[in-house]
Amino acid sequence: MWKWVLGGVALGTVIFLLVIGVDVLPVLLLAGLAALLFNMPALKGLTRSFAQPLRAAAGGAISFQDIGGQASAKQELVEALDFLQDPEAVQELGIRPLKGILLTGPPGTGKTLLARAAAQYTGSAFLAAAGSEFIEMYAGVGAQRVRDLFSRARQLAREQSRQAAIIFIDEIEVLGGKRGQNQGHLEYDQTINQLLVEMDGLRSQKDDVQVLVMAATNRADLLDDALTRPGRFDRIVRVELPDRAARREILELHTRQKPLAEDVDLDRVARETFGFSGAHLESLTNEAAIIAMRRGLRKIQQEHFIEAVDKVMLGEKLDRRPSREELERVALHESGHALVAEALRPGSVASITITSRGGALGYVRQAPQDDRYLHTLQEIEDDIAVALAGMVSEELTLGGRSTGALQDFEQAFERGRLLIFSGMSPLGVVSEETLPESELHLALTQVVHEVETKVRALLQAHVDDLRVAAARLCESERLGGAELRRICGLPDLEEPLSKEMAAT
Ligand code: ATP
Repeated sequence: MWKWVLGGVALGTVIFLLVIGVDVLPVLLLAGLAALLFNMPALKGLTRSFAQPLRAAAGGAISFQDIGGQASAKQELVEALDFLQDPEAVQELGIRPLKGILLTGPPGTGKTLLARAAAQYTGSAFLAAAGSEFIEMYAGVGAQRVRDLFSRARQLAREQSRQAAIIFIDEIEVLGGKRGQNQGHLEYDQTINQLLVEMDGLRSQKDDVQVLVMAATNRADLLDDALTRPGRFDRIVRVELPDRAARREILELHTRQKPLAEDVDLDRVARETFGFSGAHLESLTNEAAIIAMRRGLRKIQQEHFIEAVDKVMLGEKLDRRPSREELERVALHESGHALVAEALRPGSVASITITSRGGALGYVRQAPQDDRYLHTLQEIEDDIAVALAGMVSEELTLGGRSTGALQDFEQAFERGRLLIFSGMSPLGVVSEETLPESELHLALTQVVHEVETKVRALLQAHVDDLRVAAARLCESERLGGAELRRICGLPDLEEPLSKEMAAT
């Protein structure tokens, strides 16, 4: 109450002084300074909230069952987490408590989900932060945030009456990169030092709350060695891109709440999404539902999923519409890629499109029959053949090349380098570091030219088919693999395979 009276008197005095023409600026400045000193505790509160970029888990609880695939990552995690479940046994046996688990792998593979499921599995409080949130221009802020993170985790566990807390730090490489590499920026080093200090402090068994740090990165190679040495992040769990069976599981999880039409074949969608991460697959199911809605349908059909694959892979359709002449060239180019792919790997072409999406004017989607992790000489040569086929097709049908093949050449040379450095070229086993540029150039052009000659012979024999396929493409913008096989008189291997799968 007295604060209001004082405020009123002060305001009245200032107005009076202003009316009689006194300069009140110095008085106001002095009064402001006094108020600031008087309210110091509030100021402390302000810096404190500035130093807290932390998030307690939002959204519903996630369990390991909500994560598709990742069987070995889950298994390794569960084994590691069982330590947290039975602290007495750990103490009795004198086991050093686990302090950190590092999840490494490509983006969108479910690392955050795994950390949240770990918290759910162990009944721990869960606190998440990203490495970038710790890096500020001001020295000491990052270190302060690390300290806050650990004390918040303990506080949160107490508030939720839990015995353990899991701190999840995403993009740990931003905060835990190799020390001394950020020249003139000691802030990074101070922050990581503080993290090491906090992790070392987790040793005490007497703590009422056990803290486990989980971190995720897709650049483990950038991490400071001190972080990965035993006693800190001493469990490293690899989280890989899902294989075909895992993709199927993830698709099932993300379509649980969605109405699917009778014709939907998730096996087939899984087969056509090689290289997709869990995040891509989630986005694919969402896009398929959006396409169904735009067409005024109440159920999602197989064709919506297939269209969504293109969209997730290449981006939104562009309004840009090439001229008729350009469109024909693109169609002939893409038909060339598709025909050679089909001839070398029967049944592999899923679809051909000449709709402009993202940076591409056209696209052939190939679905590997099985996921491949190793490649033979023949397979690499086939990849080069498919890459060169667009350019050769343009040449055979239109009598000249265009700039549309630029990316194809890059791909062909990239595969050529793989072939050479895997010791599969006439040069034998060579080292990337010591092979002279001129020899590499010779070897690469030799590989590419030999393949080009074979591609020319193959397409020459199918020039009429190429023209028919391209004409159909110009009409409908999209051609399915089965239709291409029909045009070229090639056996359609896709149908029996999916029927067989449906029967099992
Ligand atoms: P980043 O490295 O980019 O941070 P991340 O590996 O942490 O990615 P998450 O954030 O866990 O990936 O996954 C993003 C989204 O992708 C999830 O919310 C989920 O919808 C989906 N997702 C990813 N992996 C899976 C999976 N294995 N099962 C089910 N959904 C998944």
